[in-house]
Amino acid sequence: MTTARDLRRPTTPSTRYLDALRDRTEERARVAAPLTSPYPGAPDALRTAVADAVTAREERIVALSRRIFADPEEAFAEHRSAAAVAEEVRRDGHEAEVGRFGLPTTVLASAGRASGGPVIAVLAEYDALPGIGHGCGHNIIAAAAVGAFLGVAAVADRLDGRVVLLGTPAEEGSSGKELMAREGAFDGLDGAIMAHPFGYDAADHPFIGRRILRVRYLGVPAHASAAPFMGRNALDAATLHYQAVAQLRQHLPPGDRVHGVLSGGDRPSVVPAHASLEYYLRSPEAATLRELSDRLTEISEGIAIATGTGVELDWDPLPFTLPSRFNRPLNERWAVNQEQRGRRVLTREVVPSELAASTDFGNVSVRLPGIHPVIAVAPPEVALHTAEFAAYAGGEAGDRAAVDAAHGLALTALDFLTDPALRAAVAEDFAAAGGPLDVERYFS
Ligand SMILES: [Zn+2]
Ligand SMILES: [Zn+2]
Repeated sequence: MTTARDLRRPTTPSTRYLDALRDRTEERARVAAPLTSPYPGAPDALRTAVADAVTAREERIVALSRRIFADPEEAFAEHRSAAAVAEEVRRDGHEAEVGRFGLPTTVLASAGRASGGPVIAVLAEYDALPGIGHGCGHNIIAAAAVGAFLGVAAVADRLDGRVVLLGTPAEEGSSGKELMAREGAFDGLDGAIMAHPFGYDAADHPFIGRRILRVRYLGVPAHASAAPFMGRNALDAATLHYQAVAQLRQHLPPGDRVHGVLSGGDRPSVVPAHASLEYYLRSPEAATLRELSDRLTEISEGIAIATGTGVELDWDPLPFTLPSRFNRPLNERWAVNQEQRGRRVLTREVVPSELAASTDFGNVSVRLPGIHPVIAVAPPEVALHTAEFAAYAGGEAGDRAAVDAAHGLALTALDFLTDPALRAAVAEDFAAAGGPLDVERYFS
């Protein structure tokens, strides 16, 4: 006998799995050793000067975060947000250019030695989500990056290198950084760093690769009652495809994900001549994402043969994102610098890697050394891309995260620019992870 319920409404998903993950994480966090760095980073006098410069700008950092939060703009249309970032940079007397690298809402500023020394970029995202505004907290990313840039720029005349601020639009649902990379935005940089809001403080939380696949089946229309034998059913092909992917799922590596939607047919009396599916394919490794792609191609073609339909595959209508590669020496400096803000930075051994999404920073991270740590803004059970998360991102927790991340990014950039042994270790770590990838041609 089943429990009576209102069958017009869905059931509420249980939170037991999330609860168990959170308990497990708390247990691991209790016993985790803090991340430390074998490199000293910047000299104390410079560290103090940069920290003071960021501290002096805390009110402006918070105001910028709130301003972008209050006026959310979606990918490729972040005109007022980009202008706000540029305006804040110009207030300190630096030049800021809006609209480079083929996109109208990028921002570029730099300070320090014009050529010859090391160059590190701090990345600012500021796009929002349809319907829920800054549910991913990119207002915090922008404010922290600007604060960090201005903090390092304040001591630029004492540096042997250069700090760059890159405003990187269109992360949500697209790959703004990949589009910028193809226009040379990351050429000549030795490192790129940013911090993203989350439910935990973690250095190397995984961000997995993502490809988009659109599949179109072409059938032959026929009267579904009078002459179905004269038809080829595209909707049959699409539903078979959906089921084949569902059956494939059991045999995928644990971290892989495929999720899709389908549509097809106009009316029951006509054998559907058109049907289409759109999938996101995700995998924690670039190589396994390639294998997953091959499986989807085989399924698509096999079903075309089985159903007598035609099939067209459209891969990556938007640029794909590769899994993020992290740089251990840089992450360790970030952790040491965040410890000073009272934030214990965890690792992927502690924070559940099951809760993984994708970011276009992945494509940056395989071109040059970089880090994309996450900073706690909301409680762990509050997911990104929700109205609930947005409330935290636009509130006091978001303000604190913006200020703390500004300090952490500023000091990490400073460490990189002033500690040659650290820089050598960063380059070595990147080389050991495979060096730069030919991203554009990775799947071709
Ligand atoms: Zn997001
Ligand atoms: Zn985001």
